[in-house]
Amino acid sequence: MFLDIKLGLLWAFLAGLFFEQALTPGWILAGVIFALLPDIDFWIEYAERGTVGGKVIGAHRSLLHNPIPYIPAALFVGTFFGPAWMTLFALGVFGHFAHDLSGMGYGIRIFWPFSDRWYKLFSGKDGGIRYDFDHLVVSWSPEEMKTLVAERGNDNWIQEDLRYIYEHRLSIFLKLLALLVGIGALVAILPL
Ligand SMILES: [Zn+2]
Repeated sequence: MFLDIKLGLLWAFLAGLFFEQALTPGWILAGVIFALLPDIDFWIEYAERGTVGGKVIGAHRSLLHNPIPYIPAALFVGTFFGPAWMTLFALGVFGHFAHDLSGMGYGIRIFWPFSDRWYKLFSGKDGGIRYDFDHLVVSWSPEEMKTLVAERGNDNWIQEDLRYIYEHRLSIFLKLLALLVGIGALVAILPL
């Protein structure tokens, strides 16, 4: 989530620079919201099940984490709000998917609705992170994914994540602050 927020800030800055768009609070907030948009399905699953993920695949990463439907959505944004907003939207959502394609979790279904397979980069078939070129792309059928999360899913991942965030709250806050100050300084220097 924090990486998505940082990416959203970065996209707002870069797209603002490119399109000579004033970096208003609304524009910057929109950048962050677009970067977090797919994770709304986290809260949908939470409302449905009282928890998210673990040994079961619910709405999170299967409802709003399919990139292809965002292509017409981006074109819709472009048609009604112009190229700058379309670019901010596309950078936000597709940047989010690029991020979710590796690291924690079991990837996303990048070709849905044409294929139900899950894809992940730099991962073993067991979902473990492997940053080497022998493990560049791995994919799972829906049945394989069901078995994998039933075997390896961690029902306590949210609590463990929250504990990690709490224990590292100062460095997380300082990194976000440093990025904001950095962007603020660039905005002050650059003729925007
Ligand atoms: Zn996500």
